[in-house]
Amino acid sequence: MKKKENPKKSGSVIITRQEHGISRKLMSPNALRVLYRLKDNGFVAYLVGGCVRDLLLGREPKDFDVVTNATPGEVKRAFRNCRLVGRRFRLAHLHFHEELIEVATFRSQAADESEPVAEEKRGGENRQRHPHMLKNDDGMILRDNVYGTPEEDALRRDFTVNALAYDITDFSVIDFAGGIADLNAGIIRTIGDAAVRFQEDPVRMLRAVRFAAKLGFTMAEETRKALVSAAGTIVTASPPRLYEEMLKILLSGEAAKCCDLLRQTGLFAALFPFFSAWLDAESEGFPHTRFGEMLTCVDSRVQQGGTISPPLLLALLFGEYLEEKATNFRANGAPWQQSIDAATAEFLGEVCPFVQIANRVGFALRDIIAQQMRLKQIPGRRPQLFIARKDFGDIIEYCRITRGDNKDVAGRLKWWVAEAAGQESVPLPERSQESGAPPQKKKRRRRRKPHLGSAI
Ligand code: ATP
Ligand code: MG
Repeated sequence: MKKKENPKKSGSVIITRQEHGISRKLMSPNALRVLYRLKDNGFVAYLVGGCVRDLLLGREPKDFDVVTNATPGEVKRAFRNCRLVGRRFRLAHLHFHEELIEVATFRSQAADESEPVAEEKRGGENRQRHPHMLKNDDGMILRDNVYGTPEEDALRRDFTVNALAYDITDFSVIDFAGGIADLNAGIIRTIGDAAVRFQEDPVRMLRAVRFAAKLGFTMAEETRKALVSAAGTIVTASPPRLYEEMLKILLSGEAAKCCDLLRQTGLFAALFPFFSAWLDAESEGFPHTRFGEMLTCVDSRVQQGGTISPPLLLALLFGEYLEEKATNFRANGAPWQQSIDAATAEFLGEVCPFVQIANRVGFALRDIIAQQMRLKQIPGRRPQLFIARKDFGDIIEYCRITRGDNKDVAGRLKWWVAEAAGQESVPLPERSQESGAPPQKKKRRRRRKPHLGSAI
């Protein structure tokens, strides 16, 4: 394979191996293997983005991303476990046993002057050739797929602390955008003009909030100001992407802090206008405090390494709102199940135009709320069928977290959990013995007299 020149730029600051505390022992052995193989094949290869930031902070990185000057085709030829993905911008995915290392070729954000939207005559047919970098009238980036230098690749990233690179040739860290100073000072700062960077991609506003909360950083003054004035534009981002980003926020382990920041900056009201207004109002003279309590509960579970399914997460956070809606439908005469269906449909209708909750998650959310009724019936009809439901654990957890401090509820949950564990002779909770649905008596059918006619 041909040798490529190391395109490290002179404008960058190099932090040598002696000056930083990153040890290769803290890196994924697979990521190291990738870096060495690329280097041995004559390519430039850096670790980049969140993993370098986290290693410098002494935190365990979530994943390891590699950038290189090898093209995706060249990466594929160097690795048997490589799959190329992405139609618009090809990325190499290197599959190891339980780990995926993403390898990207250096990209640039600069508009590619050599390729304006040009008319090409081919076979008498007018064809539009697309520029590699395209923004819409509002300055939002629609397409961004041109190869670049390491420095260009760093400068197209979102925040200074996310633009650091680790060079495997001399184990140095390359700082293209002042990331080290911001890392030391605990500052989240966009690279370049914050207003422009948020205009190009409004999701960066949510990322700024997530990183500030997660790392315990503050936002640079100009970044915060630009974010507050652009907060309303968050709804122009794609709804499925906003859902993914909201999930990351809510499952970051710092959801309470994130939601505080989202509310202070106006992002929360833009994304959840109806829920936000309800949260700020009172119901029957009481403020809505459950949302805050649930965020704290979700955070402590995540921090202890626990997992929470998206439907359970949504049920915990929005359950009180949904139940209040359902109560209103019920007051207007709808039966229980129908009122839950209507409340969920109304909630999804409010949220999904901005934050698109997938249908299957919406249905699962509705079921968790609706099945609370079934928990009251002990044992009810065919309890084993209920226990066998895929969402049985989520239903129990929802009830335990939101109502578990009630003695009756706790008694019922104990019964169900023991029943699910297959424990024999579980006593029925007292209250349910009196008021629960009585076990249905089997109707005794009168035996018909055998019709003997044909038998004889
Ligand atoms: P996490 O710990 O959540 O994985 P991360 O910084 O690694 O944090 P990723 O979403 O994995 O975040 O993205 C990897 C890197 O890609 C980022 O560090 C950043 O440099 C760049 N990046 C990601 N999203 C954007 C974006 N919307 N705009 C610009 N750069 C981005
Ligand atoms: Mg990452």
